[in-house]
Amino acid sequence: MSETRELILEAKHVTKRYPASGDRMLTACQDVSLKFYKGKTLGIVGESGCGKSTFMRMVVSLEQPDEGEILFHGRDISRLKGRELRQHRQKIQMVFQDPAEAFSPKMKVMDIICEPLLNFKRIRKSEKEAVARKYLEMVELPGDFALRYPHSMSGGQRQRVGIARALVLEPELIVYDEATSALDVSVQKTIVELLVKLQKEKDIAYGFICHDMALVQSLSHQVAVMYLGSIMEVLPGEKVASGCRHPYTKAMIDAVFDLRMDFDKPIKSIESEAPSPLDLPAGCPFQNRCPRCMEICRREKPALRQIEEDHQIACHLYGQQGEQR
Ligand code: ADP
Ligand code: MG
Repeated sequence: MSETRELILEAKHVTKRYPASGDRMLTACQDVSLKFYKGKTLGIVGESGCGKSTFMRMVVSLEQPDEGEILFHGRDISRLKGRELRQHRQKIQMVFQDPAEAFSPKMKVMDIICEPLLNFKRIRKSEKEAVARKYLEMVELPGDFALRYPHSMSGGQRQRVGIARALVLEPELIVYDEATSALDVSVQKTIVELLVKLQKEKDIAYGFICHDMALVQSLSHQVAVMYLGSIMEVLPGEKVASGCRHPYTKAMIDAVFDLRMDFDKPIKSIESEAPSPLDLPAGCPFQNRCPRCMEICRREKPALRQIEEDHQIACHLYGQQGEQR
């Protein structure tokens, strides 16, 4: 990605902790720095509970970080309140696994799609049906669906309604949190194609959370690999399979290819359990599962460092220039 890119949103050293039982604190995100560019997709992968949703909830201003900044066009939005927060929220939208769960069963599709516009008084009630038809066509559903109820639709169709609802405010960034994970593989494929098409047409930045490594790398311009609240590696999606360097990313890739290529082979999974986010170890979060763990890894947390253009890694195995130790 050497062409010029327009930075839309930048998270800088963002940390989020939650209170847990017994006066303890759970660290859901630790010192996370990531960038979102216009018209590009940043994918986040990692095991369940590693902090993907927590990070994105801060990006879309549903939660505030305890430390760090979230800069939107250079301005910190992480502490906005009241009217300013409400105005800002229009610019970044989020689509969840099954947005239909959030829809009232009594609302027609046109009400669901147009609700954000009516909330911000950007259209009149009389314009609802026409606007809903336009956005339904954009997500490749018949305009007549405007008059239907969501329970009469399939999961894939409802997800398209969720995407239409995210689009109506014409946001600059849309975050998809496991938005295709509950769908059949064939339906998932058509939704992903739609997302790619919409991104090209509208030049929107995407954040794409998914636990399916193969899907994320196929769709993302950059992929961030997260483990126990920390970013381990960031690299272009097309380089993940051949160019990843972090022992954790490599283990994930091995699992993907073992699964896909040779079902007779035992799946090479990672040794031992992930530690709990309640007792994060000093040093590298991955140390107790890493086949290459060194003495320094138990003492010092590796910082995320640039080793090539578009490639960052947090691992003591690599020196300043990215050479392997
Ligand atoms: P992911 O989306 O990667 O599965 P999450 O961001 O949902 O992970 O969660 C990261 C960690 O933070 C988990 O240990 C989870 O239990 C914890 N967590 C998330 N939200 C809250 C909350 N509101 N209160 C307490 N703990 C939370
Ligand atoms: Mg999640």
